Amino acid sequence: MKFGIPRTIYAEEHEIFRDTVARFLKAEVLPVYNEWEDAGRTPREIWLRAGEVGLLGTSTSEEYGGFGGDFLFDAIVIEELGRYGVSAPAWDMHAYIIAPILQSFCSNEQKRNWLPKMVSGEWIAAIGLTEPGGGSDLKELKTNAKEDGDDYIINGAKTFITNGHIADHVLLATKTDPSQGARGISMFWVDLSSPGVARGKNLKKIGNKAQDTAELFFENVRVPAANMVGALNQGWALLMHGLAQERLVVAVRSMVIAEAAFDQTIEYTKERKTFGQTVFDFQNTQFKLAEMSTDVEAGRPFIDRCIELHVAGEVTPDLAAKAKLCATELADRVLDDCLQLHGGYGYVWEFPIARAWADARVHRIYAGTNEVMKYIIAKNL
Ligand SMILES: Cc1cc2nc3c(=O)[nH]c(=O)nc-3n(C[C@H](O)[C@H](O)[C@H](O)COP(=O)(O)OP(=O)(O)OC[C@H]3O[C@@H](n4cnc5c(N)ncnc54)[C@H](O)[C@@H]3O)c2cc1C
Repeated sequence: MKFGIPRTIYAEEHEIFRDTVARFLKAEVLPVYNEWEDAGRTPREIWLRAGEVGLLGTSTSEEYGGFGGDFLFDAIVIEELGRYGVSAPAWDMHAYIIAPILQSFCSNEQKRNWLPKMVSGEWIAAIGLTEPGGGSDLKELKTNAKEDGDDYIINGAKTFITNGHIADHVLLATKTDPSQGARGISMFWVDLSSPGVARGKNLKKIGNKAQDTAELFFENVRVPAANMVGALNQGWALLMHGLAQERLVVAVRSMVIAEAAFDQTIEYTKERKTFGQTVFDFQNTQFKLAEMSTDVEAGRPFIDRCIELHVAGEVTPDLAAKAKLCATELADRVLDDCLQLHGGYGYVWEFPIARAWADARVHRIYAGTNEVMKYIIAKNL
């Protein structure tokens, strides 16, 4: 995609890293990606390879095994995953959503024990917020943790958990004081091999097919109090902090998916012939592409500015919600028009547009639905 307004947020070192990521994806991910989609999960080895190549610790501090970069390095990986249509492994969930929460809220000892294993890919992480009874109204979650000596005993169920089948640990939202609503939530780092943990079926989805999505059940699961992340009953503040980053991560991916689909569609329509001319030659096609080009050109500087502000620690939850709302709605509009311009081939899985269309649809749903984003934005009006 050629931008009329040049991108200015990345320095040369970021672009060098981008090349490394792209080469890695082309060599080690794309050739086997179909197999992972059929299996509904990604193999452990690719997580370890991503750890070796340096994808999983971009912004984790060096003290804990990472590379001590800023969110720009995370954004580079997210952009390359989006550009090449790679929705799994869910490295963004593991390394750019969960690891930063641990880095911000864990004690030094917890960080020393946990983060190096996440950076290396030895441990795979998931986050458990959504429950079968509902995901949007998080403060009503029912999974509970009761103190018992030096431990907590956890009971409850979670659903839609990305990485839930392959993960070793889940950052779990529980109620430690059910009478207090949002002020009664505490977070625990739960070892998924603990007695009492059960994993339900791998949910079959319309997109993100190589990403495993699990139901998780907790029956009298004993977790050391030392595994509490953040302070007792302070989980809500942790979630608000973490969800703002998650929303930005989704926005970054949506934006690049829209750009990649636009590029692919220009190329496709210029090659495909019908009625004695290329599909691109129809005025309808050119008008659609002109609209998309304008949409993407207008969205990109907003998302880039949000990335920059996030690096400076200045993205508010309200702004993160706007970034997610803007980029995910934009991507859905662009992807749907791109698919239409591919005709029947747009509906065929081998064509990148089909996969992108299906994969990106969930961006309006997870990390808080776009309706929830509007509540967050409206609260500040
Ligand atoms: C592929 C995938 C991966 C996911 N990964 C994870 C994960 O790793 N961890 C995790 O915890 N969760 C995960 N989720 C769950 C996701 O965050 C929830 O699905 C989402 O928050 C919505 O919750 P819900 O599905 O219970 O929908 P509901 O809350 O039941 O909402 C249903 C509809 O009602 C609307 N709605 C709800 N409340 C209001 C309101 N007050 N006003 C107006 N409209 C409203 C919603 O916007 C939505 O359109 C994932 C989901 C999917 C599909």
